[in-house]
Amino acid sequence: MGQDQSYISDDTPPLTLSERSLAAVADFIKFGKARRIVVMTGAGISTAAGIPDFRSPETGLYANLAALNLPEPEAVFDLSFFRENPRPFYALAGELHPGTARYRPTVSHAFVALLARRRLLHMLFTQNIDCLERAAGIPPDRIVEAHGSFASQRCIDCKRVFADARMRECVARGEVPRCGGDSDHDDDAGHGTSRSGCGGLVKPDIVFFGEALPRAFFEQMDRAREADLILVMGTSLQVHPFAGLPNFAGETVPRVLFNLELVGSLGTRADDVMVLGDCDAGVRKLADELGWRDELEKTWRELVGEEEAERQLQAAKKRVATLHDEVAKMADEVEEVLHIDDRESKKGAEHKDSQGDKDSPEASPVEDGEGKGDAQTQPAAPEPDKSSPSRNQGSREDREEVDDDVKTPQKAAL
Ligand SMILES: [Zn+2]
Repeated sequence: MGQDQSYISDDTPPLTLSERSLAAVADFIKFGKARRIVVMTGAGISTAAGIPDFRSPETGLYANLAALNLPEPEAVFDLSFFRENPRPFYALAGELHPGTARYRPTVSHAFVALLARRRLLHMLFTQNIDCLERAAGIPPDRIVEAHGSFASQRCIDCKRVFADARMRECVARGEVPRCGGDSDHDDDAGHGTSRSGCGGLVKPDIVFFGEALPRAFFEQMDRAREADLILVMGTSLQVHPFAGLPNFAGETVPRVLFNLELVGSLGTRADDVMVLGDCDAGVRKLADELGWRDELEKTWRELVGEEEAERQLQAAKKRVATLHDEVAKMADEVEEVLHIDDRESKKGAEHKDSQGDKDSPEASPVEDGEGKGDAQTQPAAPEPDKSSPSRNQGSREDREEVDDDVKTPQKAAL
């Protein structure tokens, strides 16, 4: 599943939507055809909040952890390392724990909360452990935290649940919590006899490397099969089994991707709509099409406060500017190469007289450079099949047409 697939071409008509666009998705929702919306989210929806994707080694959070003498950044989520030295993890916990964290939900979180308020949210599956979904007001029974979260914690030895209030105290003081007496736990009511703790380390219910996903994930997985609309936001869909969720939906169920680049099997079905670019920008565009924009901005601003709203908007502008700079730089570089080629071909032409037009083959990367996803889908090599990843083995025409599809919303979103 998801392998050996090719992207749909423009000629393929959608099966369910009137067309592959956000406007058509909005109509689908407005006409009451989407009553069980299933949303899947990853690090990308928390970027605007200032939370780096801490599972990817290039980000600042891992770099900060380097100061803590980790054998490798990933060790912070390794249980055997945690047993030896829990301090690096608790340094991270101090950053991310909802009791102490300064992070506030993004417009994307607020949009999912809006879906819940309108009773359209069937289930939200998130890979994030930052608890911003809860902070945004999405009811806990509509959230599956597939990689666990800071919402609860227990002793890693006797498994006894550790009290939230005690956990907040420890994180705030920078202490490593250990399984103690009854006052550390909420579960002692009515026991009469007091139990002393085993002294084991306490760990939030976050999925560490090699640990099983929470039971709730497997219990709720079928919600994705029941979906009549799938929204995938800000996830690279690289970690299984989470990555397989969008494929559970029936073939005729529209799937919308809000992400910087193409991921998973999104883009291979007739009703897949790609919105490449900044996640919040794509979500705002859908809200516009739905006529929900004012309500979305208002509830989000009330939630995070004016100051934080402005901070997030400024940060988003900076991100977009950086993206534009990168694209402009790339375009300049390509142009420079073209000019050099041009001069050389002219030189050649002076010598050898008539030579073919050299412009067209090299001109394409300039256009392609605009879409972020192109880095993946367009190796821009003269022999495309040799090095391209298996999932991109659709015909070159297919890929280019999808890219065109993709550019329109991206431009609009930016
Ligand atoms: Zn214990």
